[in-house]
Amino acid sequence: MVTQTDPVEGGPPLGPQLLEAFRRYLREHNLPVTAQREQVAGVILGARGHFSVEDIERKLRERGTHVGKATVYRTLDLLAQSGMITARDFGEGFRRYERVPGQPHHEHLICLRCGKVIEFANERLERMKALIAEEYGFRHHHHRLEIFGTCPECQLRDGVAPPSPPQPGQRS
Ligand SMILES: [Zn+2]
Ligand SMILES: [Zn+2]
Repeated sequence: MVTQTDPVEGGPPLGPQLLEAFRRYLREHNLPVTAQREQVAGVILGARGHFSVEDIERKLRERGTHVGKATVYRTLDLLAQSGMITARDFGEGFRRYERVPGQPHHEHLICLRCGKVIEFANERLERMKALIAEEYGFRHHHHRLEIFGTCPECQLRDGVAPPSPPQPGQRS
């Protein structure tokens, strides 16, 4: 898993600001702001990446904090309800969680061999989703797309040359 730590593009770290927003969310919903909840939220709001519950537990251990699994799950639920994180399913049999603020909308390519996750955004795809929704009389709310396959490195390892990407301007 690739974890990018803030700051993103030279800006100030987003983590503390998001943590404050989460505290506000808890208070507004009359939910206790506990140190344990803050610690769990701090891990996932402090960095970009796709975190499993195990990843979060490992990070907490590295920081010398002990938080029970139930608290980790409950905090992730609250973060998801607040809209600050989103759950992802990369076909691994467990969920991963990703911070929402501070990053543009994107989709994922998942390698079935090595588990690598590549993020991409595609303007044509974004236009298509609106057209498809319209075609079925839907008002588009949100969508997600996961493409499963074999990454170029794993194809090379298998002795199969990966298809060369189209030259810019070849297809428009
Ligand atoms: Zn791979
Ligand atoms: Zn992502």
